Amino acid sequence: MTSDPLTESPHPATTAGATLSEVAAAASSCALCKLAPSRTQVVFGVGRADAQLMFVGEGPGEQEDLKGEPFVGRAGQLLTQLIEGIGLTRADVYIANVVKCRPPGNRDPQPDEIDACAPWLDRQLELIRPRVIVTLGNFATKLLLQTKDGITKLRGQEFAFTRAGHSAVLIPTLHPSAVLRSGGRALAESRADFVHVKRALVRGTG
Ligand code: URA
Repeated sequence: MTSDPLTESPHPATTAGATLSEVAAAASSCALCKLAPSRTQVVFGVGRADAQLMFVGEGPGEQEDLKGEPFVGRAGQLLTQLIEGIGLTRADVYIANVVKCRPPGNRDPQPDEIDACAPWLDRQLELIRPRVIVTLGNFATKLLLQTKDGITKLRGQEFAFTRAGHSAVLIPTLHPSAVLRSGGRALAESRADFVHVKRALVRGTG
């Protein structure tokens, strides 16, 4: 069983309850890593509890920390456009992050923070059971694929994913913040990856 790295007792995610809202309620008071003291609130995730498509980003930024919802800043607006570009809305999908609390000054999440937070993501995957998982950028891709390969190499490809007792198709794509920084070609690559995501969703719906 996953344990709290500080006390060796079971991680609270593993005993948090049987529904997504119970797990979210338990996560809201999490203090298992050093991100807890500086956060405004835990940003657990948003969307359909039975979504077929789930996005996993890196961690909340300033806007997300204030609002309590993932991807509501500039990168979030681009993610929303990409979702709408394949005929879906944010309400159709589920959006979460690798770490649920804002790293100060938007620094990268650190390995101990990712380890402490991963069981919350495991419970989200186990309860939502998405058919298609899209990892946004390096942190989510490396965590969920357990790879050292970078996003530029992996993006747009389809991987078989099994974790927390659940199997799905995983498609890595560029992080929307990176797309905003890089512009033209990166945006075209993101759009192409989303078309691939749409195809993976349509396939298998029968
Ligand atoms: N970037 C992320 O990775 N996640 C968010 O929620 C917002 C920006």
